[in-house]
Amino acid sequence: MSNLLETVYHVEAVIKVAARCNINCSYCYVFNKGEESFKDRPIKMSRSVMADTAAYLAQGVRELGAKSANVVFHGGEPLMLGKRDFDAFAFLLRDALTGVPSVRLGVQTNAMLLDDEWIDIFARHRIGVGVSLDGTSYINDLERKDHRGRGTYRRTVDGLRLLQKHAKLGAFPWPGVISVIHPLASGKATYRHFVDDLGVRGMTFHLPMDTHDSFESQDVMVYAQFLCDVFDEWARDNNRDIYVRMFSQLLSFFAGGEQQTQDASGHSRMQHVTIESDGSVGVDELKPTRLNTGSFNVRTSSLRDFANSPASALLRELPTRLADQCQPCVWRNYCKGGLQHGVQVNRWSDTNGFDNASVLCEGLMKIYSHVAHHALLAGLPEQRMLDALEHHPLQFASSRGLHRQAFLRA
Ligand code: SF4
Repeated sequence: MSNLLETVYHVEAVIKVAARCNINCSYCYVFNKGEESFKDRPIKMSRSVMADTAAYLAQGVRELGAKSANVVFHGGEPLMLGKRDFDAFAFLLRDALTGVPSVRLGVQTNAMLLDDEWIDIFARHRIGVGVSLDGTSYINDLERKDHRGRGTYRRTVDGLRLLQKHAKLGAFPWPGVISVIHPLASGKATYRHFVDDLGVRGMTFHLPMDTHDSFESQDVMVYAQFLCDVFDEWARDNNRDIYVRMFSQLLSFFAGGEQQTQDASGHSRMQHVTIESDGSVGVDELKPTRLNTGSFNVRTSSLRDFANSPASALLRELPTRLADQCQPCVWRNYCKGGLQHGVQVNRWSDTNGFDNASVLCEGLMKIYSHVAHHALLAGLPEQRMLDALEHHPLQFASSRGLHRQAFLRA
């Protein structure tokens, strides 16, 4: 085992238990962006692939020496796997991963198929639920329609409320919401709707999964403004029970929080893996690059094999392989070329590979500046923030003046 692998701290596994969806979101990268590999895969994962997957993850976590694992039932729509198979798979995973210090099972769902039996399954296995919902009824239903063209907001919110009712009783963690930012959406209205109308306490906002070649929109500052507006509402609420992933991470970093997700040389300590319904293994987020990530399957290889593959090694190294444009950037210690709050493909172009700043760079800078400005006004010692930004294995040199300029540009 290489030294690199010995530093893996966390395994993040996305399992595509169903290769079909009960709805038809226009932006879906699995079904509606020209990538058709799902057609060659079983609609649902079989029991035997489930058993192999559980064993694969258990062995892999052990061999990599990871201290924690997060396993997310994904799809398509994961509830299309069906209750009995889902329940059986959760048992297999919990059993196989016994002894790993921290294991979390989660599911990412549109919540439209939920009923009391699903609630029992989630409670039995302590499954954390993320509900996909893009905002108000109007915004959500612009893109998230069913196969008959009907909006899905009402049915998703019914599912969310059912989850909340049982979470309140302690059945499982409070469900979070994952939102794809729509260029027409208002950050303020979206946040207020989630918090005030729907009782949401945890939310994650997704930026576009575009490369430099596919990003057609000139809306990067629209996305940034959306997030700045969300931040302002969140900061105004000042409610510790409400978690917005991006801002919690950013403020924690500015305050000097430890980043366990990278080793001393800046390499990522996370091993990502996506397992398809036929057991094939890859990284979902790399699909737009059309990079050859090798040919792996849970039945014929190990997670260690995959972690040793050139594609995996490249992904772990990306945080330290920054483009020239990122080298003098005041935010690079945190941002890592956009990896912190985007996806790897945001750096990709067919011409330069990953040797680019994020396609969302300008917007990211605006958000970082906005949050940093707020943190300083709220009393975070400036030196602490400067230390957090400057402490980096690559020892980048930038003047304090540049830092100050960046903070004050918000
Ligand atoms: S803000 Fe832009 S230049 Fe700075 S590290 Fe991020 S992507 Fe690179």
